[in-house]
Amino acid sequence: MDKDQIKQTYSMRDIVEQYGFRPNRAGYIKCPFHSGDRTASMKIYAHDAHCFGCNWNGDIFKFVQEMDNCSFKEAFLQLGGEYGKLTPERKRDIQKARAAVAERRQKESEKKAALQECICDIDFYRAEIERWEPMSDRWCFCMNELQKALYVHGELTGVPY
Ligand SMILES: [Zn+2]
Repeated sequence: MDKDQIKQTYSMRDIVEQYGFRPNRAGYIKCPFHSGDRTASMKIYAHDAHCFGCNWNGDIFKFVQEMDNCSFKEAFLQLGGEYGKLTPERKRDIQKARAAVAERRQKESEKKAALQECICDIDFYRAEIERWEPMSDRWCFCMNELQKALYVHGELTGVPY
């Protein structure tokens, strides 16, 4: 497919749904490109989207590029794009591009899961520390685990919890 065929094949809505967004009745989703978008400021049109919060504006290619942090070429290949005749080399390029994007997504979701778990641990051990007598075995154990979890959190996000 070339660029125009891809645009005819996928609506903007198809693409955002692939990333797990569900436009509300008015056709808005929570904008993935600025944080704290509680009211859903991104309007999904047939072939592009516009965020009234941060002014992000783009088509399906730009959306994929920025969601997957990839180049236009990778997004194009990812969406089924082909450059001219499909030689074995090109096929390999496409597979490589898809694998690269899949790997990035995988890493992102692993990181998210690890962070979730880590925040859970921090909350749990903080509550435990409140419950137990300071310097008791359990208290010391929880303190130790809390420090570990805080360290992991720092490693994952670069900021203290
Ligand atoms: Zn936005």
